[in-house]
Amino acid sequence: MKEYDIIIVGAGPAGLRCVEVLTNNDPKLKILLLERKPEVGPKICAGGLTKKDLDLMDIPDHLFEHKIQRTTIKSPKYTSVNEKEGLIVLYAIDRREFGQWQADKLKNTNVDLMTDAKVTSVEENKITVNFSDEYSYKYLVGADGVSSIVRRYLKLPVKKRLVTFQYRIPWKDEVRFEMGLNSKYFHSWYVWIFPHKESLSVGCACNPEIMSPKKLKVNFHKWLKENNFDISNAKYESFPISYDYRGYKFNNIFLIGEAAGLACGFTGEGIYQALVSGEEVAKSIIDGSYVSEPMQKILKYNRIQHKILNILIKAGPLRNFFFNMIVFLLKKKGSDSKISKGLS
Ligand SMILES: Cc1cc2nc3c(=O)[nH]c(=O)nc-3n(C[C@H](O)[C@H](O)[C@H](O)COP(=O)(O)OP(=O)(O)OC[C@H]3O[C@@H](n4cnc5c(N)ncnc54)[C@H](O)[C@@H]3O)c2cc1C
Repeated sequence: MKEYDIIIVGAGPAGLRCVEVLTNNDPKLKILLLERKPEVGPKICAGGLTKKDLDLMDIPDHLFEHKIQRTTIKSPKYTSVNEKEGLIVLYAIDRREFGQWQADKLKNTNVDLMTDAKVTSVEENKITVNFSDEYSYKYLVGADGVSSIVRRYLKLPVKKRLVTFQYRIPWKDEVRFEMGLNSKYFHSWYVWIFPHKESLSVGCACNPEIMSPKKLKVNFHKWLKENNFDISNAKYESFPISYDYRGYKFNNIFLIGEAAGLACGFTGEGIYQALVSGEEVAKSIIDGSYVSEPMQKILKYNRIQHKILNILIKAGPLRNFFFNMIVFLLKKKGSDSKISKGLS
């Protein structure tokens, strides 16, 4: 059995960031990063980053498919279009490219990165890969997303989830970023239109305990038809998002990113939380007495978002009134910087 100081399960943004910080701090550490897919990166996602992601990492310009300045937010009654010269509100990335860029940083380091390597069992101080190969660890990090095997080993259930439906629609026209708030179709959540190089990602989400996924799917298709989207050549995708946070440190085992339930149950955003938790857990492993302020900040950010979500869920028939009020206020002059701040 091969021995490692640290084993990280899952090479998404959380796992890759964690390994990068660990190896930069101590190049001698023996680290194993395991990814079940044949290559690092691809993930069903709208691929939206905000300024706070850029503040965290020096992301090169060529990774941005679009720098979005113009935002359109719609409610049943109003439409708010905002654009300010020079003010970038969102950045569109391709998840494969982003993952490959993160993985490239590990070249010429001591890290063993294995793809096609699915962790099939977790035990105290050792794991098994592809049902046969065993590796021992001093520290184990679960960065394996929404269905984390490390989280299951810790016996932590995932009760708060979103289901998502998304179409990648071939598109070569204008850069189009939109959010649609309409309780009739999407309950307390929203529909997004997100621009990529040669496609639009158009999708929606809901908590299946609040709204049935079947109903969301029917409503989504009605909405697509009403908004003249041709999905005949589009790629259909669906993937869950976990926002059931129950802690991240369990003796010598850590959870980061969505394995820890750190995504946001309202916006569905999770890349930033994945990157921050990856970095902060790396620092905690290096220094056992490290107290992480950034972790407290993302937990606070998520709590605020979840309070807003709960208000909307409880608002019942008043929900569209709130949505109309929000979009009416956003129509006011100067809202572009408020939208940018809100998203960041
Ligand atoms: C439709 C949709 C749209 C989204 N849009 C956005 C957005 O615009 N902006 C944003 O910030 N967030 C968005 N998110 C959320 C975002 O994709 C996730 O929160 C983020 O990818 C979480 O990162 P992670 O590293 O924790 O997990 P992941 O990115 O899920 O990575 C986990 C990795 O672990 C691997 N793995 C899993 N199990 C095993 C195993 N047993 N052994 C080995 N490897 C394993 C997986 O293959 C995967 O590569 C969206 C999500 C969805 C579903």
